[in-house]
Amino acid sequence: MTGMDVICDLIRDVEDFPEPGIVFKDITPLLSGPDAFETAIDAMVAPWLTAEPGSEITKVVGIESRGFIFGVPIAQRLSVGFVPIRKKGKLPFDSIAQSYNREYGPDTIEIHTDAVGPGDRVLIVDDVLATAGTALAAATLIGATGATVAGFSILIELEFLAPRSLLGDFTVESVVVFGGD
Ligand code: AMP
Repeated sequence: MTGMDVICDLIRDVEDFPEPGIVFKDITPLLSGPDAFETAIDAMVAPWLTAEPGSEITKVVGIESRGFIFGVPIAQRLSVGFVPIRKKGKLPFDSIAQSYNREYGPDTIEIHTDAVGPGDRVLIVDDVLATAGTALAAATLIGATGATVAGFSILIELEFLAPRSLLGDFTVESVVVFGGD
């Protein structure tokens, strides 16, 4: 079995969670297999290791909450800081907010105003890219700080929901892609 097969094997489909009609991609089996988790981090960080001079990543932003699990080790591998994007009302300091729709309903996310800014090139990390509403809202927040979005590092892309159509010219790197067939 290749490392990629092991990762796929450890992503569990949970039907009708958190609501009827959604097939939830449960990553907890992957997290509890340390070798497979490390393989997943290797794959998520690989496309971002060889940036051209001047276009290096300066911060990794993780989207609450599963984006934190992957974002922190990726930030450590890239030797840059980690910044959390959190759900509304959770961040203690001055924040800006962005509302959006995702696969299973509306939500609002926030980032500290001093977390990133002009001169930063930010890698946004999350576990699942579904409709891309969350990813686009995160990119909008980063843009509002004056920082640049270098791209997205995603573990699981649900291609059948056409998330890339919402993300335009942003660079999106995903490890496991679930198509429509
Ligand atoms: P979306 O905004 O539709 O791309 O949804 C992405 C966000 O919602 C990510 O933070 C995921 O953790 C979560 N999410 C959406 N759909 C799923 C799914 N089918 N399985 C697991 N997580 C999901």
